[in-house]
Amino acid sequence: MKVVVVGSSHGGFEAVQELLQDYPQAEIQWYEKGDFLSFLSCGMQLYLEGVVKDVNSVSYATKEDMEKKGVHVFIQQDVTAINPTEHQVTVHNLADDTTRTEGYDKLIISTGAVPAQIPVAGNDLKNIYFMRGRDWAMKLKRATVEPLINKVVVIGSGYIGIEAAEAFAKAGKQVTIIDVLPRILGTYLDSEFTDVLAQELKQNNVDLALGENVKKFVGDNGKVQQVVTDKGTYAADLVIESVGVKPNTAWLADTLELNDDQTIKTDQYQRTSQPDIFAVGDATYVTFAPTGQPAKIALATNSRRQGRYAVKNLEKASQPTPAVSGSSALSVFRYHFASTGIKDATAKNYPVQSASVYVEDSYRPPFVPDTHNAKVQFKLTYNPENGQILGAQIMSTADVTANINTISLAIQQHLTVADLAYTDFFFQPGFDRPWNIMNVAAQKAQRQLQ
Ligand code: FAD
Repeated sequence: MKVVVVGSSHGGFEAVQELLQDYPQAEIQWYEKGDFLSFLSCGMQLYLEGVVKDVNSVSYATKEDMEKKGVHVFIQQDVTAINPTEHQVTVHNLADDTTRTEGYDKLIISTGAVPAQIPVAGNDLKNIYFMRGRDWAMKLKRATVEPLINKVVVIGSGYIGIEAAEAFAKAGKQVTIIDVLPRILGTYLDSEFTDVLAQELKQNNVDLALGENVKKFVGDNGKVQQVVTDKGTYAADLVIESVGVKPNTAWLADTLELNDDQTIKTDQYQRTSQPDIFAVGDATYVTFAPTGQPAKIALATNSRRQGRYAVKNLEKASQPTPAVSGSSALSVFRYHFASTGIKDATAKNYPVQSASVYVEDSYRPPFVPDTHNAKVQFKLTYNPENGQILGAQIMSTADVTANINTISLAIQQHLTVADLAYTDFFFQPGFDRPWNIMNVAAQKAQRQLQ
């Protein structure tokens, strides 16, 4: 069997890993249009902040290692078209500008997404950067040490915008975050958490311009100098746009059925509308566990899970890809937070009833002094009709984020607040309290339900 995998980031990498295990005899051809195999954008902040020194180490695979395992690796080779009837792809070799066709028995597409651009005047000016991929990582790294760049405007206050803002603030730049929403991280956290994080950013020299809509970029000599919103004008030596992504699927429009937002339509086995063609990653939807409905949640975790399941279902559609809750975590200067599932801020987007309980406590018993203790904020969201757990958020200066993985499992297994209220969690004053904060919140929710 000959399997062609297109795209070498998270989804493509996992598909190849699973192929090597499940189909050791298969001929695997792995295509990447960039000049580097398997760059992982999730490592960009660590690289920009100097924790990771070598940009080329932000990868799980090298061409040489994969070829030793028997994978045929093609970099700088853009797959530009598919002929599903003939089971062929068209490959444009960007290095020598030649084109050829390759046959396949099975085709796995993980071509991901590219950063969205705000459609306003001046968006073609120089010094407007994006935070995705190795090329931008290297340009951004140079900007962190460029003395002529002082004022950095980050547009978008999702995960990626916050990562960019923190990296540039730590590099000594004056950073302003602009977002059309009234709160930072508005789709990840409720206001009990974002109010604290907004203060934390301000204390670290990151200004916030929230509830503002970018109208244009103004520049001189082709370089951006100002960002103009409906409420103000912000001087900028560098702009980082992080306003979401758009799927890399224009080349598939005539071949595969796409959703309205241009993501690739797949079923729960990662099969597309054409036989023997599978799709995974940011260019597809996942099943959202709290509702059982399709959702667009662009995370490496999801891409990797789907990459594995595409291969498990390669010959026989028998193992549906598990539903996910969109679990994610991030640090913002001193704080660490994680969230999963439905929040009050996003509840209106889903066809389920929801209610929440919010608790604050110390993560160790009160007798442990402040020097070795910290406040924890936790919010649990559930369905008031049946008590089913739908989501949670946690934040502290201590790293208690792993609790959210437990909630993710609870959502996936359709557990209720009654199940969680008295679950056996460990206690030792060095780690925790006699009642874990998840127990405390679930007990409060149980009382709210009675
Ligand atoms: P992509 O990562 O988009 O990669 C697609 C690849 O396919 C690219 O290399 C591209 O060059 C190649 N390609 C595209 N078209 C073709 C073609 N026609 N022919 C050949 N090659 C092609 N997620 C997390 O879970 N945790 C994190 O901490 C996290 N941090 C992130 C931080 C940043 C700054 C960013 C930008 C993203 C982060 N993510 C994180 C999200 C995660 O990176 C994405 O969900 C993941 O990369 C998606 O993988 P993918 O395989 O779908 O595609």
